[in-house]
Amino acid sequence: MNKKIATQIAEEIINLYPNAKSSLDFKTPFQMLVAVCLSAQCTDARVNMVTPALFKKYKTPKQMANADIKELEELVHSISFYKNKSKNLIAASKKIESDFDGIVPNDMELLQTLPGVGRKSANCIMLDAYNNPQGIAVDTHVGRISQRLGLSKETDPLKIEEDLLKYIPKELWKDVNHTFILFGRETCSSQNPKCDECPLKKYCKYKKRR
Ligand code: SF4
Repeated sequence: MNKKIATQIAEEIINLYPNAKSSLDFKTPFQMLVAVCLSAQCTDARVNMVTPALFKKYKTPKQMANADIKELEELVHSISFYKNKSKNLIAASKKIESDFDGIVPNDMELLQTLPGVGRKSANCIMLDAYNNPQGIAVDTHVGRISQRLGLSKETDPLKIEEDLLKYIPKELWKDVNHTFILFGRETCSSQNPKCDECPLKKYCKYKKRR
């Protein structure tokens, strides 16, 4: 892959979704952190159903840090792995209070010191809460289309992200974050990609092998 082709691919996908933005509902960096932690292996739509009541009850990291775990679990019980996520939300809130003066850090490395926050979640928080993209969150959709379009030969999400950051210019990272996932969901799905109508098929390695 060279930078010119990678940039063309990124721009063509971005142009397919001119109004793309995060599909998680939030108003503050803390709300974004809570939503993104809940969204791991769960749909954003499901997360958006539980967060209004959650944000109403726990408005700040301090309130979440002092939450009764059973009451928190009750509010998020429809979310996958809710017990572990509840535990992590309380622990992350305690650390935000004790180490960061109650403010969600605007820093990739510091975010990843919070329980339950990995690189993918940190990327989402930097991008959507702070409008300061530091990378490209690689989930199953972004990983798949990156491989199919020849942007990466890797299978490990961290290595796929390294390839994307190497080939795609930084000014596109924000829009790439919001649009690659939609292209993967809506057109280039895992089992049933819509190859005949795909506007990216001229770049596709996967289609040529089928
Ligand atoms: S041609 Fe098919 S496999 Fe290739 S990117 Fe498009 S939808 Fe995906």
